[in-house]
Amino acid sequence: MFGGDVRAMVEACSDSLNGEGGKRPWRERKLEYVVGLRDPAKKSDDALLVTAADKVHNARSIARDLRTYGSAFWGTFSACEHDLLWYYTAVEAAIAERLGAHEIVDAPHRAVDELIAASGTDRASIVDEPSQGGCARHGVRRLSAKTSARTASLGVRRRAASCRCRAAAAP
Ligand SMILES: [Zn+2]
Repeated sequence: MFGGDVRAMVEACSDSLNGEGGKRPWRERKLEYVVGLRDPAKKSDDALLVTAADKVHNARSIARDLRTYGSAFWGTFSACEHDLLWYYTAVEAAIAERLGAHEIVDAPHRAVDELIAASGTDRASIVDEPSQGGCARHGVRRLSAKTSARTASLGVRRRAASCRCRAAAAP
């Protein structure tokens, strides 16, 4: 049983929950999510703090898995690393924009730095917006059965980048 506040916060934190059932393209969902982060009417400061903590956790988990499995780990996501790195830096920027004076803003920045370092790239190389209709280098990524099997054999958590609020809210 969740009180209204917790439910609202979980819903505000989830980046996939919507009336469409999360079937829309990754890029479209993430863009809308990032825009929503900037809007206090859509997401309260408290909910944004939950998001910040969640994204710090996710970015650090991905960084750790990248160090363990190497760049093959990117193959477990439904978007390529260029779009994923865009997403994490965009979330970080939105949090900083909203909570600029808040000490918690340092944590997402450090977590994204860690993710970028684990990716072997740098901030200057990260795209300003997600690819339209697929990355120039990667196209539209769809997980093949082979990739899925390989992912399973590595014991890699497929949903590492997703918000954990829904899992926490499950009965
Ligand atoms: Zn790419």
